[in-house]
Amino acid sequence: KGPDPDLVAIAERMATVKHKILVLSGKGGVGKSTFSTQLSFALAAKDLQVGLLDIDICGPSIPKMLGLEGQDIHQSNLGWSPVYVESNLGVMSIGFMLPNPDEAVIWRGPRKNGLIKQFLKDVYWGDFDFLVVDAPPGTSDEHISIVQFLQNTGIDGAIIVTTPQQVSLIDVRKEVSFCKKVGLPVLGVVENMSGLCQLLTDFRFLRMTENGEHTDVTEKVIEYMREKAPEMLDLVAVSEVFDSSAGGAEKMCREMGVPFLGKVPLDPQLCKAAEEGKSCFADQKCGVSAPALKIIIEKL
Ligand code: ADP
Repeated sequence: KGPDPDLVAIAERMATVKHKILVLSGKGGVGKSTFSTQLSFALAAKDLQVGLLDIDICGPSIPKMLGLEGQDIHQSNLGWSPVYVESNLGVMSIGFMLPNPDEAVIWRGPRKNGLIKQFLKDVYWGDFDFLVVDAPPGTSDEHISIVQFLQNTGIDGAIIVTTPQQVSLIDVRKEVSFCKKVGLPVLGVVENMSGLCQLLTDFRFLRMTENGEHTDVTEKVIEYMREKAPEMLDLVAVSEVFDSSAGGAEKMCREMGVPFLGKVPLDPQLCKAAEEGKSCFADQKCGVSAPALKIIIEKL
């Protein structure tokens, strides 16, 4: 029996893509797609040719996070062409193929696997420096498929995104175990949403009354600071939203012998950038999350 023709076709396509990175998370909502998007923006800002592949077939959020909703993919004689955000940042997602983004995609494993295969073999990725693959949360059919399809193409490894909470960290252990079982190197773990960080002047200040009502005294507080303590206007307030006494992702990484890449704070400006489909590096307001992300990305 000869080699699987699909795997041969994927290997041909992927031969022109230098690095392939998988972004994983144990749970949903921890910021995996946000990280994949901002990683892609950061790599593209370095003048690298970057592809972002969204294989979260049941919940594709990448088109929204890149401001590409309603875009269509085009077919050329070379294959499907990705949707380009910038001349060197191409994106592929099932989100582009759905007639109605509100419609649920209810597919069984084989159909999902078929589409992932098509994304790898029928999309004209061209000469790319990086292919960032945003996977669904957990370890299911999609994960097994992508690893199987890419395993002979020189896949670099996986980045695992988590929050500091124990419930998320427990699932990271499962992700690491999955990577070990399928022979996928763990490039490192990112702790996202570790503490709320924002400019003091971006907070709203409320005075609570005994009957549970409140009055907004933000303007008064800012006015007071401006008069009495202007040096406080650029202070960043930090709040440990989640209990980190157990040591968070960093400690877990030490125990499991996998690299810890760093922490990204919970930054309302990053959330806004993601909602608007923008790069946090271009938006000066992401003053606390952008530097943290930059340090992490430099380590890769
Ligand atoms: P996942 O891909 O893990 O399901 P998302 O990337 O979709 O998670 O993130 C979930 C929500 O949290 C999004 O609205 C996103 O903008 C927001 N978010 C993610 N990371 C941060 C952060 N560090 N600061 C603020 N908001 C964030």
